[in-house]
Amino acid sequence: MKKYILDFTVAQFKTAVKSIIKEGYRVDQIIEWVYAKKASFFDEFTNISKELREELNKRFTLRCLKIVKKDHSIIDGTIRYAFQTIDKKYFFAVFLPNKGKNSVCISSQIGCPVSCVFCSSGKVKLARNLTRGEILEQILQIENDTKEKVSGVLFMGMGEPTLNLNNMALVLNSLLSNKEFGIGKRHITFSSVGNVPAIKKLADDNFGVRLALSLHAIDEKQRKKLIPNNFGFSIEDMLNAGGYYLKKTKSRLTIEYILVKNINDSAAAAHKLARLLRHHELLNPDVLVNLIPFNPVGGVDFQTPQEETIQKFKNILKIGGTIVNIRQAKGADIGAACGQLGY
Ligand code: SF4
Repeated sequence: MKKYILDFTVAQFKTAVKSIIKEGYRVDQIIEWVYAKKASFFDEFTNISKELREELNKRFTLRCLKIVKKDHSIIDGTIRYAFQTIDKKYFFAVFLPNKGKNSVCISSQIGCPVSCVFCSSGKVKLARNLTRGEILEQILQIENDTKEKVSGVLFMGMGEPTLNLNNMALVLNSLLSNKEFGIGKRHITFSSVGNVPAIKKLADDNFGVRLALSLHAIDEKQRKKLIPNNFGFSIEDMLNAGGYYLKKTKSRLTIEYILVKNINDSAAAAHKLARLLRHHELLNPDVLVNLIPFNPVGGVDFQTPQEETIQKFKNILKIGGTIVNIRQAKGADIGAACGQLGY
């Protein structure tokens, strides 16, 4: 059976082709075709001999995902991709164009066991983790399809990335490597709903990427209601882990807060959030609070707060010394906005 080239780290690939490639520079040329030049077929490797291309083709495959559906937003140009895997499973990724500074929001798992009630990915039963190759191929396929360069990566598609930490570490190494994707660490955002030991591990491994913590609530009862399988760590533990991450990595932290009408959008909730951040020494220029007005999801009986309520919430945080942003929904017309990446 052919092996999937993107599942190999560069070091593993070198070992795997030792018997057919003697010269080190040849391997470098192949790696350049795979990552920098995003070749989908071995025939595109024009500086490699025909014999070696055929040999590679016998042993390896370059692509394992198939784009089975593509939806374009007429509002903002966002594209939602549905991918099919070799074992006939489906998941999603989103292309977010921004005048040359394009990002992708990609998946780390097929389905998600965290089951946030406001998220349609959470309604899809976890099938399995995506492999290193399947995570990276989402970016290559989107770049091939759009003919655009991707310079930012958000791990906010389907899945909780910390539950696929071994593959995610391999993915981060590849994204950060100049011989592979060469994306700056400040342009990569790792997210978690609060898997505290994994966040600490990520801090100690010091990839230096941005971390987004999905807080979404200011008391435990409310949080459990919104995120039923929230790993069981308290808000306190979570914010401490965020502070630890900041100190260790000198990177940036984003606190994600979904605003749901009459659930967590009151003025009292905004004041409490500001107090919590102050108490955990998270009122500083490296910490951003992202307010995400709830995006409608089928079968979820939640509503988006009024614009006035959203602005009021934002202003309370701002006056309390927080750097705060209201995330504009991208691709809301094609079900590609936050929480909408389900079937
Ligand atoms: S918001 Fe993220 S963690 Fe929660 S269910 Fe959706 S994909 Fe999973």
